[in-house]
Amino acid sequence: MTEPGMIADDPNTNNLRDVAALLAPDRPLLITDADEVLFAFMAAFERHLHANDTYFNWASYRLNGNIIARADETAVDNPQVKALIADFFEQHTRTIEPLEGAAEAMAALVAERGLQIVVLSNVPAPRHGDRQWALARHGMDYPLIANEGAKGRAVAFLAARTNAPVFFIDDAPSHHDDVAVHAGHVRRIHYVGHPRLAELIGPAEASHLRARSWDDIRRFIEDHLDDTAT
Ligand SMILES: [Mg+2]
Repeated sequence: MTEPGMIADDPNTNNLRDVAALLAPDRPLLITDADEVLFAFMAAFERHLHANDTYFNWASYRLNGNIIARADETAVDNPQVKALIADFFEQHTRTIEPLEGAAEAMAALVAERGLQIVVLSNVPAPRHGDRQWALARHGMDYPLIANEGAKGRAVAFLAARTNAPVFFIDDAPSHHDDVAVHAGHVRRIHYVGHPRLAELIGPAEASHLRARSWDDIRRFIEDHLDDTAT
């Protein structure tokens, strides 16, 4: 029997319903993004761009239009951006570095507050196994769902499995907007691991907390659990 919140790497778990079935109805739930929340996506992606004779120009949060070819200093077109991202996940999903404090904060929340954790990542589905492997390698072996597009419906589906408080973490403001629409009761934490990217993005309007570190995240979750305890 698998403990909720910890599963082995099994391709059959790459599925929202299978992961939802692991959840206990009486334990708080954390649904967390991976890139730029658990893993240092931007740092690794910039290295990948440099290796491909391109760079990110930091003009805005979007990748489309902001990746520049060194050869002629023009923006690479959207299909090429898509290919660079696909190549990145194919080559680097296993080696991307974890962000400081994430594994420790989550382990403490599981051990001390009974949290159950699901990783809801827009990693391409064929890279599910690589990402689960990297999560395990860095002490974050929580069940992973390879999502596509908006996250609100998946969060609502998972959140419906528990009567206890539910928390959501993501770096992308658009996901906070969508979760606010589909699962308004979920406590939403906006966290961007990369400091320069955090500055560029600004706070997500639909979030309850703009976290600066995993210590901030842990404190917010603990305070909310204390406030809602009966
Ligand atoms: Mg992300």
